[in-house]
Amino acid sequence: MAEKRDYYEVLGVSKDASPEELKKAYRQLALKYHPDRNPNNKEAEEKFKEAAEAYEVLSNPDKRARYDRYGHAGMSGFGGGGGQGMSMDDIFSQFGDLFADFGLGSFFGGGFGGGSRSGGTVRQRGSNIRVKVKLNLQEIEKGVKKKIKVNKYVPCEHCHGSGSENGQTETCPTCKGHGQVMQRMNSIFGQMQTATTCPNCGGLGTIIKNKCTHCNGEGIVKGEEIIEIDIPAGVGEGMQLTLRGKGGAGPRNGVTGDLLVLIEEEPHPDFERDGSNLIYNLFISVTDAILGTEAEVPTVSGKVRVKIAPGTQSGKVLRLRGKGLPNVNSYGTGDLFVNVNVWIPKKVSKDEERVLQNLSQSENFKPNPSDDDRSFFKRIRDYFS
Ligand SMILES: [Zn+2]
Ligand SMILES: [Zn+2]
Repeated sequence: MAEKRDYYEVLGVSKDASPEELKKAYRQLALKYHPDRNPNNKEAEEKFKEAAEAYEVLSNPDKRARYDRYGHAGMSGFGGGGGQGMSMDDIFSQFGDLFADFGLGSFFGGGFGGGSRSGGTVRQRGSNIRVKVKLNLQEIEKGVKKKIKVNKYVPCEHCHGSGSENGQTETCPTCKGHGQVMQRMNSIFGQMQTATTCPNCGGLGTIIKNKCTHCNGEGIVKGEEIIEIDIPAGVGEGMQLTLRGKGGAGPRNGVTGDLLVLIEEEPHPDFERDGSNLIYNLFISVTDAILGTEAEVPTVSGKVRVKIAPGTQSGKVLRLRGKGLPNVNSYGTGDLFVNVNVWIPKKVSKDEERVLQNLSQSENFKPNPSDDDRSFFKRIRDYFS
């Protein structure tokens, strides 16, 4: 699969485009590349799908925010989602909203009814299912496969999902099988004929006289499925993965919904996380800060030893490159920032006090910060902002 183009680039809009601008840009592309206008044109179809996918993400404020932050990988870099993920059914169901308010529903032979294009009939869509998956930092660092049991509607085995006891359906008498009925309505273009979903068959074009006794004609029953979710390395709290076609089965062999996986991150006792970087608070003694030492620092995958130079100030930040988490959006790996804190004892013994009293007379122990020392706080701000 070719490298995906940036969604904003696909729609030809700026990063701060308003919802109206997005809609307008998408509408133009959709009209231009619509399959009905470009029969047997593979390239147009790809462009059409590309635009639909871009719009699907950018028109949703949550998805847009995630995309802005994590790019393509943040949206669907898992389980084969992404480019091929959006079926024509999905795209046409998206059109329902997009064109409804422009009275354009009947422009393309009724294809905008909200489902499959065949003859204007629709296939009903199953529900999207949301699940939460809790991950610890080790799992996030390596990426992980999780098997989860999902309770959802599955096709009725008795009728093979058709909803019909004997497998037979009849043409809907109201819409004569078209799935839609024509309606006159006023629009910005004047009075137009508009197709609306047939109220009798719900747009399916067929009705069932002899309903399946197991599913009462719905074609779906409550069931469960064990689903393996391939979670990429570097995900974070609140990210959502979409597994297309892993949600609830659609009624009467309709379109299967999506499985939406919300990532929850278990807090780690040692680290704070900032994107792909980790922050660790190291405490060293006053004497180690003065004389220098070697300290043990944990990482997600084991301990490392770091050198503490003689004369290390409290507040110094050591940067361990590549010891953070993989970036979900690229090949890079974040860093581990070690915040050095010099531990000051709260109580001292008489003996210790005497030693300290002596030291306090020493010129060497009078604070005399260099410019470099003074800039600690500024640098800390820079690191973490
Ligand atoms: Zn059935
Ligand atoms: Zn009908």
